[in-house]
Amino acid sequence: MSKFLSENYAKLVPYVPGEQVNLKVIKLNTNESPFPPSPKVKEVLSEEVIDKLNLYSDPELKELRSAIAEQFGVTPDMVFCGNGSDDVLAFAIMGFCGAGGKLCCPEISYGFYPVYADIFGVELEQIPLKDDFSIDVNDYIGKNKNIVIANPNAPTGLALSFDDVEKIISSNPDNLVIIDEAYMAFCGESCMELVKKYDNLLVTRTFSKSHSLAGLRVGFGIASKDIIDDLNKLKYSFNPYNLNTLSIKAAAAAIADNEYYDDKIAKIVATREKTIAQLKALGFKCTESKANFIFAASDKIAASELAAKLRENGILVRYFNKAKIDNYLRITVGTDEDMQTLVDTIQTIV
Ligand code: PMP
Repeated sequence: MSKFLSENYAKLVPYVPGEQVNLKVIKLNTNESPFPPSPKVKEVLSEEVIDKLNLYSDPELKELRSAIAEQFGVTPDMVFCGNGSDDVLAFAIMGFCGAGGKLCCPEISYGFYPVYADIFGVELEQIPLKDDFSIDVNDYIGKNKNIVIANPNAPTGLALSFDDVEKIISSNPDNLVIIDEAYMAFCGESCMELVKKYDNLLVTRTFSKSHSLAGLRVGFGIASKDIIDDLNKLKYSFNPYNLNTLSIKAAAAAIADNEYYDDKIAKIVATREKTIAQLKALGFKCTESKANFIFAASDKIAASELAAKLRENGILVRYFNKAKIDNYLRITVGTDEDMQTLVDTIQTIV
């Protein structure tokens, strides 16, 4: 640490992303899609677009916000885009809960929520899950604090029903409820339609998982126009050009290509179910994941040891050295072939 870092930030414990590697490995550690993005993405990244990179990107993100709005049946003024959904979550937690505000989230959830709470001086309550890792909805009814919940949750993969999510939103009318739907495309019940009914709901999504564009860094939030206006106020006070021109074009093309992505998502879901069945046959416990990852534990081998052995065999998975989940591995669903290699390798190891 240099002597220049502000005291406010000296004690930050930053989020630790999964490892990115150049080696030839089967990479099942950061919930990326195993498939390339839609061919439409390449088509729009034309020379003409590249030649115009001397100009700033559109700070209003009109093309992308319209494309997203059309997909979800809302108006573009209900859409906010960020440099990954992390960016959207950061603006929201800073703006709606910041400095002295209150936020709660499940104790086992996306590791960035506590980090954002910390950096923005938000008082965070982390609410334990039930023993089966599910969220007890009653814990969030009339909470009188802002709420952020990943649905499906990560790393458990478990999803709340539409009705349960609505109960949480409707019972907290004076607080913001952020539903992080990063993994929703893989078969949960989205609450997106509720943004028209409740003015305290912000739903966030990402192009990083279902849309095979983690490297592009695009995410978005959908909410009432007033919430989006507030997020834009923050963005224009921080970094008006938070998305670059290539990202805007590529993401707009991707979101419109339902045919391509529906097929890839269906493949991932089918592979998830097949792999869960195979792991269960090997004696693993697996949650009923609705995401593009599996959360699995074995009584025969410690998760840390299994992760290390898989790594020796060229397969990366995610191990969290954290109480209550330290015997579980989070395994991204890759291609059918990669998952078969994973299962075969695990069988040899155990
Ligand atoms: N929410 C959850 C639950 C996640 O797991 C992730 C991925 N790490 C994100 C949000 C952020 O994704 P991105 O910034 O790539 O959109």
